[in-house]
Parts: sequence; C-alpha cells; structure tokens
Amino acid sequence: MRVLKFGGTSVGTSERLKALMPIANDNEPKIVVLSAMAGTTNLLDEITKNLKNDKKQAAEEIIQKLEKYYHQIVSELFKTKVFLNKGNELINSHFNYIKSFVRKSFTVYQEKAILAQGELLSTALFHFLLEEEKIHSILLPALNFMRIDRGMEPDEYYIQENLKRELQKYPSEKLFITQGFICRNAFGEIDNLKRGGSDYTASLIGAAIKAKEIQIWTDIDGFHNGDPRFVNNTSVIRELSFEEAAELAYFGAKILHPSSVRPCKDLGIPVRLKNTMNPFDEGTIIKSTSNGKEIKAIAAKDNITTIKIKSGRMLLAYGFLRKVFEVFEMYKTPVDVITTSEVAVSVTIDNCEHLNLIKDELSRYGTVEIVKDQSIICVVGDFIAEKKGLARRIFNALADIPIRMISYGGSNHNVTLLVKCDDKVKALQLLNENLFTNE
Ligand code: ASP
Ligand code: MG
Repeated sequence: MRVLKFGGTSVGTSERLKALMPIANDNEPKIVVLSAMAGTTNLLDEITKNLKNDKKQAAEEIIQKLEKYYHQIVSELFKTKVFLNKGNELINSHFNYIKSFVRKSFTVYQEKAILAQGELLSTALFHFLLEEEKIHSILLPALNFMRIDRGMEPDEYYIQENLKRELQKYPSEKLFITQGFICRNAFGEIDNLKRGGSDYTASLIGAAIKAKEIQIWTDIDGFHNGDPRFVNNTSVIRELSFEEAAELAYFGAKILHPSSVRPCKDLGIPVRLKNTMNPFDEGTIIKSTSNGKEIKAIAAKDNITTIKIKSGRMLLAYGFLRKVFEVFEMYKTPVDVITTSEVAVSVTIDNCEHLNLIKDELSRYGTVEIVKDQSIICVVGDFIAEKKGLARRIFNALADIPIRMISYGGSNHNVTLLVKCDDKVKALQLLNENLFTNE
C-alpha cells in the first residue's frame, strides 16, 4: 500500500481536484491524504482570531466570502444534479457549523474545530467527485485514528492500532481518502498537527501501515540543487538520503516539513516528492541510503545573527561551553552553527527576540560581539566518501567572497558557511557554476 499526500495547491481549484482522479484511480492500493484547499486554513484562522477578539462582524464577512467560494467550487466540480445537491448540502452543513460559533462564547478547542473544516471539506468533496465518476473509494475519518498525547506528540501506538481497525472494516477496498493535519488530543477534542502538518499525517500513516512508499505531491518536480530565485539552470535532485533531505528542508527548501518524515525515516520507508502538474516525472526519492554522489545541493538561509564570546577563561577550562549554551536554553533560542577556537566560540541564531538579554547574560563569561545580517550557505551532499578536494572546490568557488564562519564535519552531509547577506546571491551563483555547471 502507498500513501499519497496532496498539498493545498494540488487541491486548490476544481480543475486541480479533477486532475487528481486519474492519479488516485490507478488500481494500486493507496491511502490518499488531502490538505485543505489552498488559502482555506488561513481564512479559517482569521475567522477564529476575529471570534476570539469578539469581532463578530469581521468573522461573519470572512465566513460568507469563504462559503460563497465553496459553492462556486461545487458548481464547477459536479456535472449531475444529484451531486450538485450533495455538494451544496455538504457546504451548507459545514458552514452552518462554523456560523454556530459566532453566537457562542469562544474557547480554544472550538478554534481547533473551526480549523479542521478545511480538510474535512476537501476530502468530502473529492470523495463525492470520485463517486460521481463511479470510482469507488472509502472516506476514512482521520479523527477516528489520528491522535496526539498529553505532550502534544503523535501517539503512534494508538494511531497504528486504530487505523488498522478502520482498514480491517474494508478488506477488499483499494482506495482510501483521509484528512491531513487534523487529529484528536489526549482528551478526545479536535486538534491538529500544527500548520503544514499534512506531511506529518502522511508520514505517520505510512509508518502505521508500513507502507511501500509515501508520496508527497506538490507543484514542483521535487528538491532542486539550488534556489531557482537566485541561480539559473538548477536541476531536480533525483535521490537524497533522509539526512540530506533534513539538512535541505531546514535550510529553506520549503517543500517538506523537516521533522515530518521522522516516522518514515525510522522504518526506512522511502518518501517520494512528486509534481501534480507533471505527474509522470519521477520526482525526488528520499531513502535511507545515499547514492554516494558527493555534492547534491546548495541552500541558504537569511537573517542570521552571529554571537562571538571571547574569553581567556575558556583556555584549558572545562564547563565553559555548557555555561554558554545554558544561556541559549534559558531564552529558548535555538543555535544553528557553532565554531570554536581555544579562546572563543561563535554561534549563529535566527531568532533575535531575546538578543539583548542573551548578550547581557553571556557578558558574564567574556567579551561578546554581535554581527547581524548574515546568511548561512549550506552545501549538502554525501561527504563520507573520503574523496580529496571537495573542500577545495567549495573554497575555490568562493575565493572572492569573505567567509565569516565555516563548519565542516558536524555531520557527513553538510558544509556550512556564513557570509554577509549582501554576498549571498553571488555566493550561491559561484557555487552553482563551479560545483554543478562545470561538472
Ligand atoms: N491545511 C493545513 C495548513 O494550511 C495543513 C497543511 O496544509 O499541511 O497548514
Ligand atoms: Mg505544506
């Protein structure tokens, strides 16, 4: 069995929803996980914010706008009177539910219940669409098996047991549809896996049923080896290991939520990124093993701040780094890149909310220097292959760009460099030309 997840843009219009039918209906057993139609969760979020702030009229205006939009979708989606009626009734019932909150006092769990309507609508509409085309499918309610525990983490045992039970009701069915993102919490209330959580749903389902493959369908052909906004001639990376994908996902490649593939990674279930606009393209496959190709991609992240702590006390001392990192822990600020010398340590952060407090605290241990407006450039690949000259190729390419920090060897999968934001585009172009184009 495969799990296929379609994101918001892949279900974003009636045309796109119709285009999913042949992909779903290819006779291969599968569970299809759908996000809400693009833009819907944002609008539902606005509705809840307005209700929370007692701005009932503003909430009602958005509800009306969204309801009208869904009736339009229904009119484009269905051909027969029977299904046009079914579709409109569905929209009415979901929107009557949303409207019922305008009259009540508002709590946080009602907020989650409103946010859940987007996925409930997209899956129910797709289910009707298949039915109208006489394609048989089963709509599995995610709220019957997706669950988070008291720590707000997925309860993987519960998910596995309950999904199995749901599937056992339909031993001869091949096509299942379910909602991404939504779940119940430890108290049985409607909750969710946080924004962008549908990838996580797919990964959790894949792990629960030990799927053959998980496919994440978006609107690009998979991971690119560079950022097409800044460099020309980027190409799709065909194969990545989980570690390489995690580095890339973290450093800006928005197409996959970095922590969402963890359940698949643990079981070695391959994850394939596919393009709904180009369904026959093989996309990018992410699996446990790397194909040994050394340099795979270059990514960058902006708005990085470096903090350098210099202290004679660090020399030959122990416990110094612990004290430094405790400061970041205290202010819940993640540290990305670290480099050290005998008398200094430099770190980067991208969340400057508590920068002044962190600076004051660190001043107890040495002189603190802060530099803003930096970019992290991350060269991702398989650097285990002890081939000579890799670092030289990277540094040769950047001969004319001042580099502030270098981190090499933290993992076998990345070389990370810090440059000024203003030098980022140039650095990306030079690396692309020297590492890929001249290959
Ligand atoms: N619909 C949810 C969101 O927009 C979940 C998802 O699309 O992954 O965040
Ligand atoms: Mg997404």
